[in-house]
Amino acid sequence: MNYYSTNGRAADASLEEAVVKGLASDKGLFMPHEIKRLPDSFFDEIQDLSFQEIAYRVADAFFGEDVPADTLKAIVYDTLSFDAPVVKVQDNIYSLELFHGPTLAFKDVGGRFMARLLGYFIRKEGKRQVNVLVATSGDTGSAVANGFLGVEGIHVYVLYPKGKVSEIQEKQFTTLGQNITAIEVDGTFDDCQALVKNAFMDEELNRHMQLTSANSINVARFLPQAFYYFYAYAQLKKAGKADQVVVCVPSGNFGNITAGLFGKHMGLPIKRFIAANNRNDIFYQYLQTGQYCPRPSVATIANAMDVGDPSNFARVLALYEGSHARIAAEISGATYTDEQIRESVKQVYDATGYLLDPHGACGYRALSEQLQPGETGVFLETAHPAKFLQTVEEIIGAPVEIPAKLQAFLKGTKQTVAMSKEFAAFKAYLLGE
Ligand SMILES: *Cc1c(COP(=O)(O)O)cnc(C)c1O
Repeated sequence: MNYYSTNGRAADASLEEAVVKGLASDKGLFMPHEIKRLPDSFFDEIQDLSFQEIAYRVADAFFGEDVPADTLKAIVYDTLSFDAPVVKVQDNIYSLELFHGPTLAFKDVGGRFMARLLGYFIRKEGKRQVNVLVATSGDTGSAVANGFLGVEGIHVYVLYPKGKVSEIQEKQFTTLGQNITAIEVDGTFDDCQALVKNAFMDEELNRHMQLTSANSINVARFLPQAFYYFYAYAQLKKAGKADQVVVCVPSGNFGNITAGLFGKHMGLPIKRFIAANNRNDIFYQYLQTGQYCPRPSVATIANAMDVGDPSNFARVLALYEGSHARIAAEISGATYTDEQIRESVKQVYDATGYLLDPHGACGYRALSEQLQPGETGVFLETAHPAKFLQTVEEIIGAPVEIPAKLQAFLKGTKQTVAMSKEFAAFKAYLLGE
């Protein structure tokens, strides 16, 4: 299947080109030309299928023309080596727990899938080593690094700002070794991003080594996120709760919710969506006014949603042909202050014992405010609360248990390459000088 650019000024790309390039040459986002509907028979039996079986059917609809069936199946099954259970929080409100992967956040699904698909293309083409550069302010680096860990033919360089990520986050990508190199930059996240961008534009460097990016706009990171919407539906159907499903997604760059909207276009019977924002509520304002007005992000305790100009808004517009009315008919919004987020974490914990993370708390709260009689709500619990240890412990006034997987990272030894924020130094390092 071919992919077009949301900016409409670039030639169509094959799947391989879209995955290797990430962004279209006109700086638009790649969109598949076709979103295939899955047959009724699939939805009739979905409650009896495993997560991996469901995901393979969804993956086949997007990638089946371009990747041999046995390869695609192996990629999907290997990606989903963990569960994504739907857990009841209170009557009619369920949590889709997306934190059971290696780095305890939903980005593991896209990160692991992209790594394996890129690895396949490299082997197929007999390409020389591909080098993935990724700048991170925390969570993306760990999901990408762990996703690519041990994948042959790929080396990952994670650039992060020295002293500006939490200890848990840092340990998740500095202790891995193998094909992962952590670069500790004496500067800010913006400096890291500038180093990566300069590297992509440097001709000499690009002659010397093949460089690619692994950010969230890549179709191989974005489309696999549709898998767990189908699986959530299957679990609700099994529980007899699938008649009027409302899905609420804590949103920042809008990749996650857009994958859910793709699912609905493939026939998944979801009644409607809610996009929950923190104070960075550009999408919420768009729904109210019809005007899309990006603005600089502000820092909140749900920091993975601190996005002032969500990239995937372009994909939402493309899905609904730019119609505000159609978008607003399918998605409602919500926006919460840090105070409200804290209140919800505390209230749910006190009332039910269920511990939300600050992102999931936005999702829960929007459902509790907007659910209509007869509807069943499911919110995406996008990360484990222990990833935001200090914030969450302060809110509930009690210690939070750190899962064994996170503790294992904490035991590892940090290995980094110290780097100045000057591009010349980074380039010399990559050239091996
Ligand atoms: C990345 C992230 C989000 C936001 O997801 P988008 O796809 O950018 O909307 C929400 N919660 C957590 C924990 C994240 O890491």
